[in-house]
Amino acid sequence: MSSVTIDKLDKTYSPGKKDSFRAVKGIDLEIHDKEFMVLVGPSGCGKSTTLRMIAGLEEITGGTLKIGDRIVNDVAPKDRGIAMVFQNYALYPHMTVFDNMAFGLKLQRMPREEIKRRVDNAADILGLESMLDRKPKALSGGQRQRVAVGRAIVRQPEVFLFDEPLSNLDAKMRVQMRTEISKLHARLDATMIYVTHDQVEAMTMGDRICVMKDGNIMQVDGPLNLYNKPQNMFVAGFIGSPPMNFFKGQVVDGDGGKKFVETPASGKGFELLLDNRLASSAQKGGKEIVFGIRPEDIETVSATDAEGIEAIIDVAEPMGAETFLYLTTPGGHNFIGKVQADHSFSLGEKIHVRFDLARCHLFDAETENVL
Ligand code: ATP
Repeated sequence: MSSVTIDKLDKTYSPGKKDSFRAVKGIDLEIHDKEFMVLVGPSGCGKSTTLRMIAGLEEITGGTLKIGDRIVNDVAPKDRGIAMVFQNYALYPHMTVFDNMAFGLKLQRMPREEIKRRVDNAADILGLESMLDRKPKALSGGQRQRVAVGRAIVRQPEVFLFDEPLSNLDAKMRVQMRTEISKLHARLDATMIYVTHDQVEAMTMGDRICVMKDGNIMQVDGPLNLYNKPQNMFVAGFIGSPPMNFFKGQVVDGDGGKKFVETPASGKGFELLLDNRLASSAQKGGKEIVFGIRPEDIETVSATDAEGIEAIIDVAEPMGAETFLYLTTPGGHNFIGKVQADHSFSLGEKIHVRFDLARCHLFDAETENVL
């Protein structure tokens, strides 16, 4: 049983001092047994602090931390049943791969045969069998990272913790190691908590993802739900690339039903007739609302299309199958469309685009929560 339960967990660095800083603000999070949970968010959001509190490397200021049924707030890191893989691998340069992996077990005075069995097993899982006698400097970045993971595996922990383990690798190796860690999760059937600032890593690896901002949790959900049903503008803007476009405006009664009227800082905004779903959502909001549409839910249409919105092309980036269009509305609002690359676009060209209303989101402009 290796669930991790976080209850009102709080961290203030240097409490009571002039430079005190509250990095984690009373968060609640339940990580299920055998789950792969990703903590993701921009730099400084508190994800590493949270992981380090779970590891016991950072003192907890408030709240309760349970691993399985045991409260571990005051349990030493080595007795928590966890193993952590760090960003910088933290390998001993003068030791062989075998000794690096065996080091923690030797400290525990484990019998030599058992150490050998565990290291050989980890080397087999990670494809390191032929490298056990090498020193870290004779390994590639990806291989070093595998040794760091191996060192965690041999401890047979209840919970694996990963702190941005792939950030020192080049893009290709990152993609490869991403798949390897996911396979490892399936093979070891262990609980894993993984910190990253990379939303692609989060989306591809996590059973569930916890999105953090400023020491708070913004949403905890499966990857598809985060993408399709973001609970607030922060998550909507953080998950997806290029990010979701937002337009501020008001909902008014018009011919044929409720309309969203964009209210740009200057100039005239566009108008959109809302369908029933959006009209009823809009009623829950205040005076100002925000209309959100992802670049991939925008298509180009002919000038005569009744639902078309006028836009000027600032930049067109052909990406192969699709083209990214950097566009400006007549009201001067910039947004991005990801459209089929079935014809070429010119700079300054006036085009018309249609938003897929079934896939758009409305938010309250004040609370920034979804309506
Ligand atoms: P990153 O991706 O940059 O590592 P993060 O989300 O993991 O960011 P944390 O490392 O958890 O963020 O830090 C959260 C906040 O706490 C940051 O604003 C950071 O400056 C602050 N912080 C971290 N460690 C300390 C410390 N020892 N003393 C004071 N403040 C700290």
